[in-house]
Amino acid sequence: MQCNESTIGIVGAGIGGLVAGIALQRAGHDVVVFEQAKQFARVGADINLTPNAVRALDGLGVGEAARTTAARPSHRISRTYDSGEETSRLEMADSAEAKYGAPQLTIHRADLLAALADMFPAERVALGKRAQSITPDAEGVDLRFEDGSSARVGLLIGADGIHSAVRTAMFGAESPRFTGIVAYRAVVPAERVASVPNLGAFTKWWGPNPQSQIVTFPLNRGRDIFIFATTPQDTWHLESWTAPGSVDELREQYVAYHPDARALLDACDTVLKTALYERDPMPAWAQGRMALLGDAAHPMLPFMAQGAGMAIEDAVVLARHLEGVPMSDAAAALKCYEQARIERASQVQLGSRGNNWLREGGNADWVYGYDAWAVPVALAA
Ligand SMILES: Cc1cc2nc3c(=O)[nH]c(=O)nc-3n(C[C@H](O)[C@H](O)[C@H](O)COP(=O)(O)OP(=O)(O)OC[C@H]3O[C@@H](n4cnc5c(N)ncnc54)[C@H](O)[C@@H]3O)c2cc1C
Repeated sequence: MQCNESTIGIVGAGIGGLVAGIALQRAGHDVVVFEQAKQFARVGADINLTPNAVRALDGLGVGEAARTTAARPSHRISRTYDSGEETSRLEMADSAEAKYGAPQLTIHRADLLAALADMFPAERVALGKRAQSITPDAEGVDLRFEDGSSARVGLLIGADGIHSAVRTAMFGAESPRFTGIVAYRAVVPAERVASVPNLGAFTKWWGPNPQSQIVTFPLNRGRDIFIFATTPQDTWHLESWTAPGSVDELREQYVAYHPDARALLDACDTVLKTALYERDPMPAWAQGRMALLGDAAHPMLPFMAQGAGMAIEDAVVLARHLEGVPMSDAAAALKCYEQARIERASQVQLGSRGNNWLREGGNADWVYGYDAWAVPVALAA
């Protein structure tokens, strides 16, 4: 892959890395994305895009492609796990679009990645490149990959997820923390659970303790229903997007839940299980010619459904800060990007840990009303 000190390198072709690639190219930069996977595989399932994330994608021209496969939840509903009492309801489709300029979309991660990959030149994505050593100097950054190859770029963006190698190179090694919570993920055909009310909505069943909940919403244009359930469990530490769990165990964990919620679990044939990890907010994301975005900077619990949204916002704001900026001024621009984003992302990271978002209603505007294309761009001094 041809690159040099005029190139911006991005480590990680996940959602944040690809959005950054598209936005930085559009801002006039030569960009290369280095991804450890050998191909884009159909791993994972749901990605929740609230209006703030959809509007950021719309500004890049990706929203239309996303809408062809996404579902559009009608509402965001909170219910109490046993009585089923509805404690809040927020419209997320037409009225969210009128208020925030975009609706909520729920989409398979692979469909979103495919829509993003279509907008970024395939010849600028280097697959099978797991960054192992990252060495910055005053003029650029040297990368060495697991396969023995190397590259030099002028600027490096770490979009390499919760176990970010770029983060370690910048700030030292520090492992994410196990939260004591495990999550189950399952997909069931909507026709199999047709008698359950509000299948078109994003519904959160608030459990008997803050770690216990069931979240359900439509996926694949409403053909499927996605189930995401969490519970405290100290004995399972495996972090994986593909490890199978036990359907019987899933049902046992939620026996005290309302029949509408249990009906969805009864309809599952298979389930995936993962331990949930997180980190504390960081005091800095940029250092010299390197900066972080997305989960590399602020991995968060999924309880505000903002993991992908924050990565997308970061990527857009980063590209706007680098538009028209020569490499010689880029380090200062990266610091301005960090300042523009760190407070908001940290607040969402802590809010996700607190897990109280929209439980009893409340004003969602500070999250959903954010426009990554309109936030002021501070010019590097
Ligand atoms: C395989 C996978 C499946 C997922 N499935 C779901 C899901 O179903 N639901 C959900 O809510 N969230 C899922 N997520 C997480 C979700 O995508 C992120 O939390 C969120 O979108 C923020 O994205 P990100 O781009 O910051 O990080 P990520 O989406 O984690 O992307 C990071 C990328 O960096 C690559 N990478 C990591 N280390 C290196 C390295 N050293 N060198 C080169 N490349 C590297 C990874 O392979 C990955 O492609 C998944 C993540 C992954 C990696």
